[in-house]
Amino acid sequence: MSTVRHDWTKEQILDIYNTPLMELLYQAATIHRLHHDPNTVQVSTLLSIKTGGCPEDCGYCPQAARYHTNIEGNDLMSVQQVKAQALRAKSSGSSRVCMGAAWRNVKDGPEFDQVLEMVRTINKLDMEVCCTLGMVTENQAQRLAEAGLYAYNHNLDSSEEYYKEVISTRGFEDRLETIDNVRKTNVTVCSGGIIGMGEKIEDRAGMLVALSTLDPQPESTPINALVAVEGTPLEDQHPVSIWDMVRMVATTRIVLPETQVRLSAGRTQMTREGQAMCFFAGANSIFAGDKLLTTPNPDVNEDMEMFKLLGLNPQKPFTKKTQPQTVEAVDSELQSLGEKPKWTRPEHKIERNEDAKQKAKVLK
Ligand code: SF4
Repeated sequence: MSTVRHDWTKEQILDIYNTPLMELLYQAATIHRLHHDPNTVQVSTLLSIKTGGCPEDCGYCPQAARYHTNIEGNDLMSVQQVKAQALRAKSSGSSRVCMGAAWRNVKDGPEFDQVLEMVRTINKLDMEVCCTLGMVTENQAQRLAEAGLYAYNHNLDSSEEYYKEVISTRGFEDRLETIDNVRKTNVTVCSGGIIGMGEKIEDRAGMLVALSTLDPQPESTPINALVAVEGTPLEDQHPVSIWDMVRMVATTRIVLPETQVRLSAGRTQMTREGQAMCFFAGANSIFAGDKLLTTPNPDVNEDMEMFKLLGLNPQKPFTKKTQPQTVEAVDSELQSLGEKPKWTRPEHKIERNEDAKQKAKVLK
């Protein structure tokens, strides 16, 4: 059995990425079979519980308030709304619900308490619950764990070097600190990134160095292909080719052998043949539902048809780790600390982010 390594170098990962494709696919598929059932794929549903109006400047994101995009924002959903959506997701084959809020970081208070209640509610539906809420402190991560959170998503997005070309309102080290805070609890870590933002292959390898040298490695790694949304700084980026996607998935599978590698944004641009190649290369998780936060995604029925065609089975919840216990709010032993952590704000100038902001000012 291949062992998990935490000492990958960028050069070694680049060598893997650039291996002749048939050999790369063979190596990745072999490692995949050592650690996972190749005919099982996890189906997750991503739910935007609070959309738009985000103060951050992520160059790929239509939810950043400073850019002019045509997404409809909404305030935090109610627990009942979230429960109804989770039940719908469960009945269509999802085993995990990932709740995303367009926040810079979690703030203690009624909205966070409401999210904690959502976590309790979905965990009681026997579904894996994941949250992606921005930066979190250790105390907040512990409160999420106590509510029954299964996973916390916090993407590294790209290499440390290229991160600075995409986001100026927080630093790469903040990402690592949040992941570290989550690691101090029994919540699993979901962290990956986006390709097609104009980065070099070296940056893709650099991101995989950062992820693979985490110890333990993330339990889940989403690989997104940029969906270039009009009004965002990255609106003119060309779609990622399927060959790049397959290479990225295969390389991720080899350096993160035990991780669930998730085909995330950009699936609408991929054929079924392309997706099948990604599954062969080691992808074993997808997001289901016609929207991925705000960008389009294949319809659930289309995905289930594809599963049937390929002989794939949706993964049952809690296959990789047992279900966490939920502690009710009244029984909680953890207090809100009302912390005001100083997450960094480098605010260096990113030309294309500035341009998109100016364009938005004119249009608004
Ligand atoms: S990716 Fe997240 S943090 Fe960045 S602008 Fe979008 S919602 Fe905000």
